[in-house]
Amino acid sequence: MHISITEAEIKAHLQHYYNMPVVQLNQMDGYDSLNYKVKFQDQKYVLKIYNSKQHHEADVAAENEILTEVNIDGIEFPKPVKSISGQWLQRIKGSDIYFRLLTFLEGTFLGEIEHSDELIDSLGTMLGRLDHELAKLTSPVLQGRVLAWDLGRFLDNTPLLSFIKSPTDAKLVAYFIQQFKLEVQPKLPSLRASIIHNDANEWNVLSKDDQVSGLIDFGDMIYTKVVFEIAICAAYLGMQKEDPLSAITRLVAAYHKTFPLEEKEIELLYYCIAARLCTSVLNSAKEKEHRADASYITISEKGAWHLLRQWIQINPEHATNEWKKECDFATANTNCDLMTRREKVIPKVFSLSYREPIHMTKAAFQYMYDAAGNTILDAYNNIIQVGHAHPTVVAAGQDAMAKLNTNTRYLYESLVTYSEQLLAHFPAPLSKVFFVNSGSAASDLAIRLARTYTGRNKIAVLQHGYHGNTQLGIDISHYKYGHKGGKGKHPDIIELALPDTYRHGDRNGDLGAVYAKEAAAHLTKVASSSSRDLAAFICEPIVGCGGQVPLAPGYLQALYPEIRSRGGLCISDEVQVGFGRLGTHFWGFEYHGVTPDIVVLGKPIGNGHPMAAVVTTEAIADSFNNGMEFFSSFGGNPVSSAVGKAVLDVLESESLQTNALETGDYLKRKLHELMSVHECIGDVRGEGLFIGIDLVTSRISKEPDAKMAKKVVEELKMAHILTSIDGPGHNVIKIKPPLCFNRENVDHLRHHLDKILFC
Ligand code: PMP
Repeated sequence: MHISITEAEIKAHLQHYYNMPVVQLNQMDGYDSLNYKVKFQDQKYVLKIYNSKQHHEADVAAENEILTEVNIDGIEFPKPVKSISGQWLQRIKGSDIYFRLLTFLEGTFLGEIEHSDELIDSLGTMLGRLDHELAKLTSPVLQGRVLAWDLGRFLDNTPLLSFIKSPTDAKLVAYFIQQFKLEVQPKLPSLRASIIHNDANEWNVLSKDDQVSGLIDFGDMIYTKVVFEIAICAAYLGMQKEDPLSAITRLVAAYHKTFPLEEKEIELLYYCIAARLCTSVLNSAKEKEHRADASYITISEKGAWHLLRQWIQINPEHATNEWKKECDFATANTNCDLMTRREKVIPKVFSLSYREPIHMTKAAFQYMYDAAGNTILDAYNNIIQVGHAHPTVVAAGQDAMAKLNTNTRYLYESLVTYSEQLLAHFPAPLSKVFFVNSGSAASDLAIRLARTYTGRNKIAVLQHGYHGNTQLGIDISHYKYGHKGGKGKHPDIIELALPDTYRHGDRNGDLGAVYAKEAAAHLTKVASSSSRDLAAFICEPIVGCGGQVPLAPGYLQALYPEIRSRGGLCISDEVQVGFGRLGTHFWGFEYHGVTPDIVVLGKPIGNGHPMAAVVTTEAIADSFNNGMEFFSSFGGNPVSSAVGKAVLDVLESESLQTNALETGDYLKRKLHELMSVHECIGDVRGEGLFIGIDLVTSRISKEPDAKMAKKVVEELKMAHILTSIDGPGHNVIKIKPPLCFNRENVDHLRHHLDKILFC
């Protein structure tokens, strides 16, 4: 907005058009007009000066008309003052400029004071009364008005995302845009519409003696969905509050008492509030780019960001139920018979976590929402590497699915682009990738590749290792074949001791080298004839199911040459630890300073989308090309390729490996602090955001304390934190959250863990 006029000219015009000869002028903030406080004799006014080229006179005239018609006892609104020629809008002769004079309202802005319950009640009541009045009015001009700040056009703001510089901030807004599209947009046509004020923020509402006394700035008034009025007011009221939901619930209740909301409106309120916050931060980001001084426009930005970060931690179902309760609507049924229905169709062998299983409904980044309304901090899901429902990954999948889904028998760009991007993360000579759909299929294929390449059969594995659920997967997983329900070791399997630095018996010296030497001796002993039969050695760099056990330093560096000297290949199972989780390195084998011949990838590769891969050398890949075609119907399809690429992009743009390192180190520090207080913590181990807490009955005997582990995991669940147990002694708490996990999340986890261990 640029209006060229001097104060002397303004004074002259006020005298000429309003008969106000001697006035005092003070400039005020303004968004789309030049605003002055005008003092004439004992009266105060607000003068708004517009340029008709930038601001339609018809819109301002419509606003004036409404202002003259709306009257509510005890609430003041600015009233238009006519010029001496009887005009509400006074055009300045010979220019594009026009004036508007309004009465000035005294009072204290809500932005200047604490918000008591009474004040919030009176805010809701005032807004309800106003909307009750506005619902009786019509205005063809306002009905035709198009405004970017109309939440009905919220999605039009999407391109402004590019102005938000921080990828972590942008993903939050992109998430709420996607949710609005999903939850609100399809229902908009069914909502009632009316004229609404459209901007009841804390700098537009005045108060006296803890009661709302007035409302100003009707410049954003528009004909749109009624529910947006309370959503907008709630968005601003919720800012800078420790408990925004209770303040908003109070506001909604007071509004509803005066002007009843419909149930379907309440059901959309959570996302409409988020949409207003997003509109605010998106427009602030744009203004900051375009204007040197955007302080007035960006006044709410900080508060909006703060509330958005709180909002994502509130289960939408919970918020909606709170509002419904206040407005006397029945709350959602949590579907208690889901368990019974599940038992009828899903085999018992599928386990459910916790004594009382959790019924999950939605999730966002490191937070999951259950049907009971709880928000659950996910400290456990290493599948969801970049965060639940990450908008970039979701959009990649949605867009690709809407375009083309086919298989690797045809040429398409995404397979090649993604493969190039993925392989760029590997050292030479790892240069070829096979795509499949699960970690199990990948480890199965890895074994087949090794056997084909070497022409041999025997596979060396680590005790307590897990690699998959196919028959071959079970054969190479001591965690399965060596435990309950398992049929014992297959003759082709050679079992090696887990090179554990915590429970290492009485071995002394350089544990990695000692374990490797023992393993080599074992290979020689069990396979005097068959050592020439060794096809491969497979292990994880940190053994997940074995209890988050990092292999002793130097172990792989010493053992890989032993395997290779016996003609075997080295396979690294990166299904759990890969893709930056360890912080210091992208892959677990790098952390051990070795390069395998075959790498197995799964879980995080697609952030929950079912995909997996095997990466190997050209020579090994070529040996598989022996006449028998390899085909996976879904492996490497265009949708999976797009999803996989999005995961890599997000890992990079949000620097999630660095976050894994920094937050992981902070987590380990906090857990070591707990260890100095709680005797039952025998060991804290792992790297980055792949951490195990080994609980013991005695630090001397290192006896696993399975009972304590169960108690901890159950009680963390009661505190709405997800973790899990692993290890042969069922005593290791595993922490491997989405890589967006932050310090605040760590503090929260530490606090509850501490409380539980004290009891
Ligand atoms: N390898 C490892 C190390 C795993 O942890 C798992 C799954 N827990 C697999 C392979 C098998 O992956 P999926 O469940 O995708 O078949």
